[in-house]
Amino acid sequence: MHKTELTDLLRFLNASPSCYHAAANIASALEKAGFTRLWESRPWDVAPGEGYYVLRGDASLIAFRVPRDIVSGFRIAAAHSDSPTFKIRESGEVPSAGNCLRLSVEPYGGMIQRSWMDRPLSVAGRVMVRAEGRIVSRLVDVDQDLLVMPSVAIHMDREVNKGTALKANVDLLPLFAEGREPGEFRRLIARTAGVAEGDLLATDLYLYPRAPAVLTGLNREFLAGPRLDDLLCAFGCLQGFLAAEESGSLPVLAVFHNEEVGSGTRQGADSTFLTDVLERFCDRLGYLGESCRIAAAESFLVSADNAHAVHPAHPEYADGQEAPVLNGGIVVKYSAAQRYTTDALSDALFREICGDARVPVQRYSNRADLPGGATLGNISAAHLSVHSIDIGLPQLAMHAAYEVAGARDYQYLVRAMTAYYSRRIRFGPMGVEL
Ligand code: ZN
Repeated sequence: MHKTELTDLLRFLNASPSCYHAAANIASALEKAGFTRLWESRPWDVAPGEGYYVLRGDASLIAFRVPRDIVSGFRIAAAHSDSPTFKIRESGEVPSAGNCLRLSVEPYGGMIQRSWMDRPLSVAGRVMVRAEGRIVSRLVDVDQDLLVMPSVAIHMDREVNKGTALKANVDLLPLFAEGREPGEFRRLIARTAGVAEGDLLATDLYLYPRAPAVLTGLNREFLAGPRLDDLLCAFGCLQGFLAAEESGSLPVLAVFHNEEVGSGTRQGADSTFLTDVLERFCDRLGYLGESCRIAAAESFLVSADNAHAVHPAHPEYADGQEAPVLNGGIVVKYSAAQRYTTDALSDALFREICGDARVPVQRYSNRADLPGGATLGNISAAHLSVHSIDIGLPQLAMHAAYEVAGARDYQYLVRAMTAYYSRRIRFGPMGVEL
C-alpha cells in the first residue's frame, strides 16, 4: 500500500514537467474517479453524489464533490501547480559567440539560479494552435535532452566558488544548437504539437530539468526531484480528496497556478476563481443569501505549501525551537504577523484531526528576525474569509532545480488529508464539534 503511494507520486511528478501537465494529470485522475468537467463559459448542472472539476487558464483547477446530505460548509484544501523555472520567449534563438544558438528565456519565480546550470534541460508547457478554424490549447513536452546552461570554467573565473552572481540575460540562456540561423526551435515546437508551423500561434513554454524524481537515501527514506514545491502537496491533497468518505460537508480541492509570481493573475489564488466556483455552485444547489453565509462560516481551508526543514549544514537559519525535520511529520506554519493564516482555533482543530489519524505534526516559525515567504492561505482568505491553516511538508533546497523531502511525510499528508476530508465538523455557538 505504502509503496504504491510513492510509486504513484513519482509517476505523477515525472509526468508533470510543467504546471499545465500537472493540472492535466490531476484532471485525468479525477476523470478516472468519475468526476465530470464543467466549463466556466457554459451552464452547470450538478447532482448530489457526483463530482466535478473546473479548469481556468489550463493550469489552475478546482474540484468538488456534491454530498447527498449537506450539513455544513466547505472543506477546502489549496496547493499550487507552478514552480520556479524559466519561460521561453517567442523570439526563440539568440545567435551567440562560438557559432552557437541559445534560447531567449526569462526567469519565472525566485529560483536558485546556479542549480539550473550544467544539467540537461528540456521544454514543456502549452501552445495555442489553429485547428479546424479554432484556436485550441495543446500540451507540449519535447521530452528529450535538449538544452544546457554551461558554467564558465573555473580557470576563467577563479572566484566562482566564492559565489559569483549570475545575470539572467547573460549567463542563463541555455545552449540549444550550433549554427547562426534561428527558426529551428519554432519548427521543433510545431512538430511536437503536431501542427504546421503556420498554425502555431502562441506559446507558454518553460524549461524543466531532465533528472527524474527518485527515492534516495540508505533506506529510500528521502524523495529527491524537481518541483516538489508544491506538487507534493497538490498530489497528496488530491489523494486524500479522492480517498475520503462522505462527511456531510462539501469537499473542495483547489490547485492554483502563478503562486511563484505573486498569485495576482486571472487564475491565481488572488483571483476570483475559488469564490466564482463556490458561489456558482451554491447557486446551483439553491444555497442563497443567509444559507450561503452560514456555509462560509462553517468552512475550513487547509493551505498546503511546502515548508523548510532544518538544513543539516546550516541549522542556524532555522528557529531554535520550531525547526521541522525531514520525515518528522506534517508542518503547521505559524506567523505572528499572520503571513501564515494559522490561529489557535484552526491549529487546535487540524491537530486534533491529525492526532486521531496518527499523523505526527511539527511546528514551523520563521526565525524571528527573518521574514520568510508568503503562501496561498492569506491570499485566498482575502477573497474567501473562512477558518484556515497553513501547512506543508518539510523540504530542503526549496526553489532549487532539484529539491529534497521526506518520503514518509508525503504518506502522512495523504493520511491527514483523507481524515480531514472525511471528518464531520460543526462550528456552533458552543464550540467546534468533531
Ligand atoms: Zn510553494
